[in-house]
Amino acid sequence: MDFKGKIRSIKDFPKEGINFRDITTVLKDKEAFRECILQMAEQLRNKNIDVIVGPEARGFLIGAPLAYELGVGFVPVRKPGKLPSDTISFEYELEYGTDKLEMHKDAITKGQRVAVIDDLLATGGTALSTCKMIEQLGGVVVSVGFFIELEDINGKGVLQDYDVFSIVKFQ
Ligand code: IMP
Repeated sequence: MDFKGKIRSIKDFPKEGINFRDITTVLKDKEAFRECILQMAEQLRNKNIDVIVGPEARGFLIGAPLAYELGVGFVPVRKPGKLPSDTISFEYELEYGTDKLEMHKDAITKGQRVAVIDDLLATGGTALSTCKMIEQLGGVVVSVGFFIELEDINGKGVLQDYDVFSIVKFQ
């Protein structure tokens, strides 16, 4: 599957200097979407995953169908104030300022084997924060997977303690 040909790139979005990789062109293509989920599922099938955790919003779009394909549960990670029950949170540094993510306190039980899934790996800050919250709840992060990896930003370095995979790599 020529995923690179199907991912739309948009210059200077959401701000100047960023070449945004847009997966909506993959999601709307029935063959590409299915192949994306199946290729990601192949990476996880023999890892005994109990649950998939995905950060909003595009982590839901990949993480939920992947959980369905693997026959496991799905847990959302959200921006502050969106989850209705008791949460834990993790604050992380951005280029300018900080950002915060939240997860339900009862979303993961001790010893559960977890895969963190998002659409794209850039700096790794989102995925690392997600891993830290899972570990705080006693979960074991078995794998961290992305559909797209922006290799020159080296998010893999930030995630060096984890088993990381990606399907499509951009320089
Ligand atoms: P990181 O935390 O710097 O690794 O950024 C990854 C997060 O930002 C993911 O949740 C992505 O959805 C989002 N993101 C960053 N750059 C892009 C892009 O070019 N296309 C789509 N999403 C992006």
